Amino acid sequence: MTHSLSTRAVHAGRDDLLDLGVHAPPLDLSTTYPAVDCGLEADRIAAFAAGGQPPGSPLYSRLHNPTVARFETAIAALETADAAVAFGSGMAALSACLLAVAHAGRPHVVAVRPLYGGSDHLLNSGLLGTSVDWVEPEGVAAAIRPDTGLVVIETPANPTLVEIDIAKLAEDCGNVPLLVDNTVATPVLQRPIEHGAAVVVHSATKFLGGHGDVLGGVVCCAEEFAARVRQIRVVTGAVLHPLGGYLLHRGLTTLPLRVRAQQATAEELARRLGEHDRVARVYYPGLDRDRPKQMDGGGALLSFDVTGDAARVVSAVRLVTPAVSLGSVDTLIQHPASLTHRVVDEIDREAGGVTSAMLRLSIGLEDVDDLWADLERALAA
Ligand SMILES: *Cc1c(COP(=O)(O)O)cnc(C)c1O
Repeated sequence: MTHSLSTRAVHAGRDDLLDLGVHAPPLDLSTTYPAVDCGLEADRIAAFAAGGQPPGSPLYSRLHNPTVARFETAIAALETADAAVAFGSGMAALSACLLAVAHAGRPHVVAVRPLYGGSDHLLNSGLLGTSVDWVEPEGVAAAIRPDTGLVVIETPANPTLVEIDIAKLAEDCGNVPLLVDNTVATPVLQRPIEHGAAVVVHSATKFLGGHGDVLGGVVCCAEEFAARVRQIRVVTGAVLHPLGGYLLHRGLTTLPLRVRAQQATAEELARRLGEHDRVARVYYPGLDRDRPKQMDGGGALLSFDVTGDAARVVSAVRLVTPAVSLGSVDTLIQHPASLTHRVVDEIDREAGGVTSAMLRLSIGLEDVDDLWADLERALAA
């Protein structure tokens, strides 16, 4: 891969367009495809069911879709992964990873808090037949057992923005694959596979789509693991709709521009919030001196503890949208203890550093002074 990231963001997954004689990637909405030669197609069905990607007709769109496949090629190129497998949501992507390791006889997971509330709930509930041990990063090596199939982390963590040194942790994992949820950093700022992670998961709903109008998820990894999660996708049907694949592929073209602009505004707001007397603490990776060198900047997410009633700030904003989710072109604010991390038990939530005074901002592309005016007014309310 000789091109830089922003060039790849624009061109990856478009190699076939010249032959097709088109400029924009086609949106292929077919659910089925002509299958004339039964003998040949029988072999190809078997290959798809085993998680392979046989060339030729897609056959049926739960098995393969060309529009989704272009997005997969593009995100794999950005994450410097062999392969990527797209799903209908970030939770479906994580679920496929858990089902794959459980099926291989390694249902034990070691995980570090905080994770996204839904991921925490999925692991803690054991709903998919996995079990979990929650540890601090230093405790990962000791928590690994012969039946451990995955180590799961998020860095920077959502919503505390605490960072974990990926390269150091990957060493501690030994032969157990390290899964990093890279939703918050995006491949623009951090590529975990370059630091030794085996699997990268995204909620593509967030920065990859970037416009708050598509739900999706993706697993980026080596082809061997990709085949296993593709097999899970075929049997569970947790596919990404082709329109989602189209929008996510288009979203990637502006990802580097959006993330860098959003990050610049986040840095400035983190600084201003840190000086505000109604703000008790700011959580932002750029403010921490002693950081691992894996991420290019602090990102576009920031959290802060308020001295007064956090809920009042949420209801007082006018320009900023009070809503869960993140990574959109518009700025969003939410109260993690009430919303995104509600499903995490209160004691576990507090232990993970998610206080009830905390608000999380996902910075969009608005003018920094307009955002600041809105936040200042809401903090004074
Ligand atoms: C939103 C989110 C998820 C879940 O993704 P969905 O697309 O909502 O299923 C997982 N991890 C992180 C960090 C998220 O922000």
